[in-house]
Amino acid sequence: MAARVVVLGAGYAGTTVVRRLQQLLDGHDLTWVSREDYHLVLHEVHRAIGDPDAAEKLTVPRTAIADRSTDVLEGEVVGVDTDDRTVALADDRELDYDYLVVALGSKTAFYGIPGLEEHALTLKGLDDALDIHESVVGAARDATPQDPARVVVGGAGLSGIQTAGEVAELRDEWNLPIEITLVEAMEEILPGNDPALQQAVRERVEARGVNVLTDDPIVEATGDAIRFDEGDPLDYDILVWTGGITGQDSLDGANLETNHNRVETDATFRTSDDRVFAVGDSALVEQGDDVAPPTAQAAWQAGDVLAENVVRAMAGRPLETWTFEDEGTVLSVGASAVAHEVLGTSIGPFDGFPARFLKKFIAARWLKDVASYRRAIPAWSVL
Ligand SMILES: Cc1cc2nc3c(=O)[nH]c(=O)nc-3n(C[C@H](O)[C@H](O)[C@H](O)COP(=O)(O)OP(=O)(O)OC[C@H]3O[C@@H](n4cnc5c(N)ncnc54)[C@H](O)[C@@H]3O)c2cc1C
Repeated sequence: MAARVVVLGAGYAGTTVVRRLQQLLDGHDLTWVSREDYHLVLHEVHRAIGDPDAAEKLTVPRTAIADRSTDVLEGEVVGVDTDDRTVALADDRELDYDYLVVALGSKTAFYGIPGLEEHALTLKGLDDALDIHESVVGAARDATPQDPARVVVGGAGLSGIQTAGEVAELRDEWNLPIEITLVEAMEEILPGNDPALQQAVRERVEARGVNVLTDDPIVEATGDAIRFDEGDPLDYDILVWTGGITGQDSLDGANLETNHNRVETDATFRTSDDRVFAVGDSALVEQGDDVAPPTAQAAWQAGDVLAENVVRAMAGRPLETWTFEDEGTVLSVGASAVAHEVLGTSIGPFDGFPARFLKKFIAARWLKDVASYRRAIPAWSVL
C-alpha cells in the first residue's frame, strides 16, 4: 500500500510541496488540507487594501493546482498527534498520515504589548485586507482636510511598508483626507537589511506622503492612541499592526520541538519527529547559526527540496540539505517599487519602471507557474 502523505497549508510552501510531490510520487496517496479552497498570493495581499477588486485576482482555486489523484480537503487544522500520526480538524474529522508536511504559515505576533491585539487590525489574508480598506474609507468619510483621519501602521518590515504604501495609494486615488504614519521600534525601517536599501525605501515612503517614526517601541495601545517608550503618544483612528510573526495555535500541543509554535527543523526540513517535515513561515529551518527568513522567496525555494526529501525518507535514502539563496528584495510602495540585488546581481537599490516591472513580474510568474497564463495575465493590472 502506498504511504499516505498529508500536506497542511496552501501558501507558497504547501503549494510548492504538493506540486513537486505530485511529480515525484508514483501512485501517490496525497492529501492536501487547508483552511481555504484557494491558494493566496499573500505577498501581494496589500493590493486589496487599495483596490478590493484585486482580491479575486490574487487567488487560485486549489483544484486548479492539484492533480485529480490528490485529495484536496478544506478544513481548519486544530491539532497534530505525532504518536498516533493523526491530524485533527475543527469539524472532528481525523486524518491518518505516514508522512506529514507542516506548512501552515504564521500569525501576527503582539509580543504581549498591552491593548495591541485588542485594538489593532492585522494583515494575514484577503478578509484582513478588505477590512483595512473598509475601515480606512469609513474613517475618511468622517474626516476633513483640516481634520484628517489618522492611519497608523505599526511595524516597518515588508508587510508594514507595503501596507502604508497601499493606504497612500488609496488616499491619492480616492482623494481621501488621511494622514498616514509608519512606526518602527528599530532605528531604521526594513530592519536587518542593507542600509542603502533602507534609505532608498524610506525616501520613497516619505515621498508618498507617509510620516515615518523610528527608534521608539510601542509599549501600549488604547482605543484611540499608542504610547511609546520615550516619545509622545500618537492618536489614531485606524491602527494596523504588522510588527512580527509567530507560529499557529494549531501546533500548540504537537509533540514537536517548537519555538513560539514555529517548528524547529534541520536543513533537511526534518523535525524532532522523523515522520514530520516543516517548511515556510511555520518552520525555523536551520541555516548554520541562523534560520531561513520568513519570506515568500524562502518558502517557494524550499518546497521542491522538501518534497524530494519526503520521497527519500520513504525509501530510507539520505536526505538533501537546503541552503537559502537570497535573490534580492523587491517591494512596493503603492504603485511604485524599490528593488535591490535582484537575481544575484549587486545592482541597486533602484526604483522607477524597472523596479515596478520586476515586482509585477515576480508575482505574475508565480501565478503562471502554479496555474496558467490565463490567471497571470489578468492579475498583471492589480499587482
Ligand atoms: C502584506 C504582506 C506582504 C509581504 N510581502 C512579502 C514580499 O514582498 N516578499 C516576500 O518574500 N515575502 C513577503 N511576505 C511574507 C510572505 O507572504 C510569507 O513569508 C509567505 O506567505 C510564507 O509562506 P507559507 O507558505 O509559509 O505561509 P502562508 O503563505 O501564510 O500559507 C499558510 C497556509 O496555511 C493555511 N493555514 C494556516 N493555518 C491553518 C489551519 N489552522 N488550518 C488549515 N489551514 C491553515 C493558510 O490558509 C495558508 O493556506 C509578505 C507578507 C504579507 C502579509
